[in-house]
Amino acid sequence: MAKFLVSFDNEKCKGCELCRAFCPKEIIVMSSVINNKGYSPASISRQEDCIGCQSCALVCPDGAISIYKEEESQ
Ligand code: SF4
Ligand code: SF4
Repeated sequence: MAKFLVSFDNEKCKGCELCRAFCPKEIIVMSSVINNKGYSPASISRQEDCIGCQSCALVCPDGAISIYKEEESQ
Protein backbone atom coordinates (compact mmCIF):
# COMPACT_ATOMS: atom_id res chain seq x y z
CA MET A 1 0.00 0.00 0.00
CA ALA A 2 1.31 3.43 -0.85
CA LYS A 3 1.81 6.10 1.70
CA PHE A 4 2.28 9.77 1.05
CA LEU A 5 4.64 12.38 2.37
CA VAL A 6 3.53 16.00 2.29
CA SER A 7 6.29 18.58 2.35
CA PHE A 8 5.75 22.29 2.96
CA ASP A 9 8.24 24.96 1.94
CA ASN A 10 8.00 27.08 5.07
CA GLU A 11 9.59 30.11 3.48
CA LYS A 12 7.19 30.14 0.50
CA CYS A 13 4.07 29.74 2.64
CA LYS A 14 2.10 32.89 3.46
CA GLY A 15 -0.26 31.26 5.92
CA CYS A 16 -3.42 31.74 3.82
CA GLU A 17 -4.89 28.46 5.15
CA LEU A 18 -6.37 27.49 1.76
CA CYS A 19 -4.67 24.11 1.92
CA ARG A 20 -6.11 23.53 5.37
CA ALA A 21 -9.62 24.38 4.15
CA PHE A 22 -9.39 22.01 1.16
CA CYS A 23 -7.87 18.94 2.83
CA PRO A 24 -10.61 16.27 2.95
CA LYS A 25 -8.85 14.52 5.83
CA GLU A 26 -8.47 17.71 7.89
CA ILE A 27 -4.87 16.92 8.70
CA ILE A 28 -3.29 20.28 7.81
CA VAL A 29 -2.65 22.64 10.69
CA MET A 30 -0.99 26.01 11.02
CA SER A 31 2.28 25.82 12.84
CA SER A 32 3.25 28.02 15.76
CA VAL A 33 6.58 29.08 14.27
CA ILE A 34 6.92 32.28 12.25
CA ASN A 35 8.73 32.24 8.92
CA ASN A 36 10.95 34.95 7.42
CA LYS A 37 7.92 36.69 5.89
CA GLY A 38 6.20 36.86 9.27
CA TYR A 39 3.60 34.16 8.59
CA SER A 40 2.75 30.96 10.42
CA PRO A 41 3.29 28.27 7.79
CA ALA A 42 1.10 25.23 7.29
CA SER A 43 2.22 21.79 8.39
CA ILE A 44 0.73 18.33 8.61
CA SER A 45 -0.62 16.80 11.78
CA ARG A 46 -1.20 13.15 10.88
CA GLN A 47 1.03 12.28 7.95
CA GLU A 48 -0.14 8.67 7.99
CA ASP A 49 -3.73 9.73 7.22
CA CYS A 50 -2.84 11.52 3.98
CA ILE A 51 -4.55 9.94 0.96
CA GLY A 52 -2.38 11.76 -1.59
CA CYS A 53 -5.32 13.56 -3.22
CA GLN A 54 -3.12 16.59 -3.95
CA SER A 55 -5.93 19.05 -3.20
CA CYS A 56 -3.63 21.01 -0.92
CA ALA A 57 -0.88 21.31 -3.51
CA LEU A 58 -3.34 22.30 -6.25
CA VAL A 59 -4.94 25.13 -4.30
CA CYS A 60 -1.73 26.56 -2.86
CA PRO A 61 -1.20 29.91 -4.63
CA ASP A 62 2.50 29.87 -3.79
CA GLY A 63 3.49 26.36 -4.85
CA ALA A 64 4.68 25.65 -1.34
CA ILE A 65 3.46 22.05 -1.13
CA SER A 66 5.03 18.92 -2.60
CA ILE A 67 3.60 15.43 -2.27
CA TYR A 68 5.69 12.31 -2.53
CA LYS A 69 4.44 8.77 -2.88
CA GLU A 70 6.27 5.97 -1.17
CA GLU A 71 5.61 2.31 -1.87
CA GLU A 72 5.72 0.28 1.30
CA SER A 73 7.83 -2.85 1.10
CA GLN A 74 5.98 -6.13 1.44
S1 SF4 B 1 -2.73 15.34 -0.30
FE1 SF4 B 1 -4.93 15.48 0.23
S2 SF4 B 1 -5.16 14.30 2.14
FE2 SF4 B 1 -2.97 14.73 1.88
S3 SF4 B 1 -2.62 16.62 3.06
FE3 SF4 B 1 -3.00 17.22 0.92
S4 SF4 B 1 -5.23 17.64 0.81
FE4 SF4 B 1 -4.82 16.45 2.71
S1 SF4 C 1 -2.16 27.15 0.63
FE1 SF4 C 1 0.09 27.38 0.43
S2 SF4 C 1 0.50 29.48 1.09
FE2 SF4 C 1 -1.55 28.95 1.84
S3 SF4 C 1 -1.23 28.15 3.92
FE3 SF4 C 1 -1.21 26.40 2.54
S4 SF4 C 1 0.98 26.07 2.04
FE4 SF4 C 1 0.76 28.13 2.88
